[in-house]
Amino acid sequence: MGGKTLPLPVRGRDRADLLDEMRALRDHDIQWEAGKAFSLVYHAGDEISDFTKEAYTLFFSENGLNPTAFPSLRRFETEVVAMTSHLLGGDAQVCGNMTSGGTESILMAVKTAREWARKRHPRLSQPEMVLPVSAHPAFQKAAHYFGVKPVLVPVRSDFRANMKATRKAINRRTILLVGSAPSYPQGIVDPIAELGRLAEANHLLFHVDACIGGFMLPFVRSLGYPVPEFDFQVPGVTSMSVDLHKYAYAAKGASVVLFRNAQLRRHMFFAYTDWPGGIYVSPTMGGTRPGGAIAAAWAVMHKLGQEGYREIAREVMSTTTRLREGIQRIDGVHVLGNPHMSILAIGSDEVGIYEVGDEMSARGWHIDRQQFPSCLHLTVNRAHVGKSDAFLADLRVSVERCKKRPVDRALDKGKYALANAAVRVLPGRVVSKLTSAASTMMGVEDVGTGERSAAMYGLMANLPNRGDLQEVVLDALDRLTRL
Ligand SMILES: *Cc1c(COP(=O)(O)O)cnc(C)c1O
Repeated sequence: MGGKTLPLPVRGRDRADLLDEMRALRDHDIQWEAGKAFSLVYHAGDEISDFTKEAYTLFFSENGLNPTAFPSLRRFETEVVAMTSHLLGGDAQVCGNMTSGGTESILMAVKTAREWARKRHPRLSQPEMVLPVSAHPAFQKAAHYFGVKPVLVPVRSDFRANMKATRKAINRRTILLVGSAPSYPQGIVDPIAELGRLAEANHLLFHVDACIGGFMLPFVRSLGYPVPEFDFQVPGVTSMSVDLHKYAYAAKGASVVLFRNAQLRRHMFFAYTDWPGGIYVSPTMGGTRPGGAIAAAWAVMHKLGQEGYREIAREVMSTTTRLREGIQRIDGVHVLGNPHMSILAIGSDEVGIYEVGDEMSARGWHIDRQQFPSCLHLTVNRAHVGKSDAFLADLRVSVERCKKRPVDRALDKGKYALANAAVRVLPGRVVSKLTSAASTMMGVEDVGTGERSAAMYGLMANLPNRGDLQEVVLDALDRLTRL
């Protein structure tokens, strides 16, 4: 399978012409501005985003790699980190850095744990970390990159980490426990206080992934909603990840990784002093760091302040409550578990939930599909305020239509199996490409599903083994990332 090469245009092109072309290309993207797309985009409204863009542009060229060259960026980053720490119950010991996103924050937490363990147990050859199956794939990525073995434990029927299984999974090689606040799939906070006690009792590090919840849960709690303990107030918590480009409504490329103290954070840093190019030191994975993302995060946090974030959380939570209650009133679907904030998973025992997803897609909604159990996923944010009635009306019609259809038993049994990676990289229109890849592989005719992805999910479920699924997904990624 060859690609194509593309020469640079010989002569530079006209500015207006280029911008027109780019705007036209945008028309084919998901139209998140209409509040009909979930995940991928978190939008606090045009006033906030226009301001944040201005802040970003001011520092468009600056580079966070060298904080001595740009004291401005140094001030922004240290303040962003200190404000985030304060929000999450940190004391003066807690410190951290900004990263490009949740994945990098998690990579750094796992890398730090590995270095910490190497210092304490020099003879430990195969370190392990224990994490609930609901933990974000970034932990699997970190495990893969840094040679830490991931030991998965199941969640209970309420989707929270199973403590008994976690206790049993700990052994001499364990270095790190993981919990989510909340987990991405169902939006439910793990038993952080219990995990913290377990970590302390076993002298382990404990990372709380608050990538999605860090800028919601504190405000949700202050509004009077019940939120369990989840942050540095829990003694056993040794590190946290908090995305700013989600519910802090910062520009993309902004997250914070926090550590209990400077000694622990030291294991994250990297220095190389023998390079002919000079002495090199860097806190995180990347080298060059975009000044714009750092500046924009600082700007939006100051622009909104505690009151601004609380007001947004109030709106988002009342929209979430309307959605939750509305979903429960629709016969045939239900919300999974008891979510702590604004992430909802919709499942069904009666209709094929992926088919409901297809019906919703046909009505212009962009909703992720999840697995184990099969469900649809909503990340409700300010972009969805005022959209709940339209959503519920379409959901009601979609469910009714699916009820009228004879249900494919295979689909009904929840036999769908699609790797999380596929769900992440293969939404909507790409699905047909995957379908043809899968069908070629299985030697069946192209089913050409177009908008209808349920057939694809069924097809994936019947692939002989997970290894094949992995190949299909990687193959699709390969095709997607070449011309
Ligand atoms: C989004 C998310 C991540 C990963 O963050 P990216 O910014 O996409 O790299 C990790 N954990 C949770 C719980 C998340 O919601």
